Amino acid sequence: MTPPDASSTLAEKTSIELAAEPAEILRLAEQKLLVDRESITFEDAIAIQQLPDDQLGHLADLAHRVRLDYCGESVEVESIISGKTGGCPEDCNFCSQSSVFGSEVAPTGFIPPEQLLAAAEATAETGATEFCIVYAVRGPDRRLMDHVIECTKLVHDNVPGLEVAASLGILTPEQAKELSDAGVHRYNHNLEAAKSYFPEVCSTHTWEDRMETCELVRETGMELCSGGIIGLGETREQRIEFAFQLAALEPHEVPMNFLNPRPGTPMEDRELVSPTEAIRTIALFRLIMPATTIRYAGGREITLGDLQEMGMKSGVNALITGNYLTTLGQNVGNDLGMLEDLKMPIKAVSKVL
Ligand code: SF4
Repeated sequence: MTPPDASSTLAEKTSIELAAEPAEILRLAEQKLLVDRESITFEDAIAIQQLPDDQLGHLADLAHRVRLDYCGESVEVESIISGKTGGCPEDCNFCSQSSVFGSEVAPTGFIPPEQLLAAAEATAETGATEFCIVYAVRGPDRRLMDHVIECTKLVHDNVPGLEVAASLGILTPEQAKELSDAGVHRYNHNLEAAKSYFPEVCSTHTWEDRMETCELVRETGMELCSGGIIGLGETREQRIEFAFQLAALEPHEVPMNFLNPRPGTPMEDRELVSPTEAIRTIALFRLIMPATTIRYAGGREITLGDLQEMGMKSGVNALITGNYLTTLGQNVGNDLGMLEDLKMPIKAVSKVL
């Protein structure tokens, strides 16, 4: 199946999909990406996805070389904080912050600005350059907009060099412009899953609703961060579909989460993605989006375990460190130690405010 948004025509089909030998498939992918600097097609990606497990190391190695070639060796480190937890009226089936399922997360009010500032200062001390404030809402009202604008100013005035990112759900054009004007540097709004699978994920808003906000963000000049979750029950082919739909959106950054099933949600019994499938999917995302920042996000610890270092060498060039919104992450020191062991420098602060 070819997804509607994937740019693949019969004329573009290459011999990658026709190649019989795994080594030849990888050689042709390398030729396309690193020599001819062309994109791979949907059919190419399917052929690569079907490589046997004994080729996984070679696939990861190719993805790592593509990442180094297109993005360089540095790694962008970010930390996230919940600006408001739980009580969301939407029904995303993986999410413990939805009020629809009666799950484990108790709703909170907005984080006090002074508490947020302390977290921003602690984030900057780790060497991180991005600080993302996330609110569990369908979209912002006036009160939330004012809170985010106040917090953004507070961070800018007190923590030089730390970029503020925000995630407040579905935006109107006026809200997107106001956030951009207030200095929000990056906006996160995940597509979450392939268009063909999204109706299994959520019924209270559509994939197109999410896409519209992503397009608005790009129009205002904020950087767009949009990714999703692997392991929601989608097929392997839908993972490829999803990657091409993200590629068509041209986000600055794609956070890759792996489902960590939350008690009380409709997806609580989903099986974890296997570590080898996770590595394979990271590598494929890199080959499909060679120049995009691909960020390790939630679920990597439980999914990859000891293979997290291999994941970093399969195409990832950014990570969220510390805790996630409703689950514990890896200790910051462990993450920084991992980057040191891998000899991957942390991306320098790009702007002094
Ligand atoms: S993913 Fe976001 S929009 Fe969906 S239920 Fe959770 S907090 Fe709400």
